[in-house]
This record gives sequence, structure tokens and C-alpha cells, in this order.
Amino acid sequence: MLVDVDEVLGMFMRGFEAWVGRHGLEMRFDRYALFQNIFRPGESEHVDVEVGRDLLNQFFAGPVEHMDPVPGAVAALRELSRQGTVVILTNAPAHSREPRSRWLTKHGFDYPQVVNSGLKGPCVAALAARTLGRTAFIDDLLTNLDSVATAAPYVARFQLVADERMRAMAPAAPERHARIDDWDEMGKAIAAALQGE
Ligand SMILES: [Mg+2]
Repeated sequence: MLVDVDEVLGMFMRGFEAWVGRHGLEMRFDRYALFQNIFRPGESEHVDVEVGRDLLNQFFAGPVEHMDPVPGAVAALRELSRQGTVVILTNAPAHSREPRSRWLTKHGFDYPQVVNSGLKGPCVAALAARTLGRTAFIDDLLTNLDSVATAAPYVARFQLVADERMRAMAPAAPERHARIDDWDEMGKAIAAALQGE
């Protein structure tokens, strides 16, 4: 199974929000966005998106190491790893490789890591071709799920959005990709899909 990190294994939005807060800014969650959700306290216009982009780059360079794991994720993957191979499939930028790896190890996500860039469909197709067994793909972003549906339609697809504030706003297509925001339930659904149920 191929598992995303941010908003799937790690509470990315909460971690980034804390980082933004350390710079005297705040995040508001009234739309599904990242940079456009960053404000100076008391102001109604979001800060320039370049400010957000810089903060994100800095966050990935180090502070990302301190985000919390998503509840239930460690135990679910540990259980699933008895049934098949777990591979971490992240789009984190190259300069985040070391803090990201340390974070994964520290929290017990001690699985091989593949760093992708751009939509994940082609990468998932290439990785799925290396196993005779069934493959499952778990991500928070509809664009990646759609990309996998196109490039590797035989891969079982699951969407999980960890941040409770983003769940209702996150674009989803449950008729195409199973939507499960809880890792206990997700673990069982993945296990069933890998067994061909
Ligand atoms: Mg993600």
C-alpha cells in the first residue's frame, strides 16, 4: 500500500498553523486553501501568497519534524504491514527529506519512502507494476486520487483528511474514491481491499 504523509499520517495543517503563529500570523479555515488562509490578526485580507510560500518552505526545512502523527495511523499501518508492504509516498520537497525521514522514524512509520513531485498517478502505476498483489493508495487530495484512477485504475483508492476543520471543505468524490477520515476504520477497509473483498 502506498500512503501519503501530510494530512494522512501527519497533522500537517496543525503543524503549519503553529509555525505560522510563531510569525505573528494566524490561519482561518473558512475555505479549502493554504496560503489564502493566512492572515494578520484583525485583518480581513489574507497576506500575500508569497509570504505563505516562504513560510511553507521554511516549515518543510525543519519544523515539519515536530508535527503530530494522526491518531490511529501508527497502529493501523503496523497491523497492515503484516499483510503487505507499506511504502510512504510523499510530495515533500527535496530540502525536507532529512526532517521528514526523522519524523517518520521517530513516530514508528519506519517504512520505505518514495519522494514524488507532481500528480501521483504515474508514480503509483510504476510502483503497483512491481507487485503481483493488490495495491491500495491513500491520500487527502482529490487531484492525486483522480490521477491514480486514470493512471492505475486497478489500484484501490482511499481518501483521508486528518484535520477536522478541513474535512467538510475538502473536495471529494466518494463514488470514485472511498472516503474514510478515521484510521481504525481505514485500516479495516484497506485490509479488506487487499484481500480482494
Ligand atoms: Mg497530503
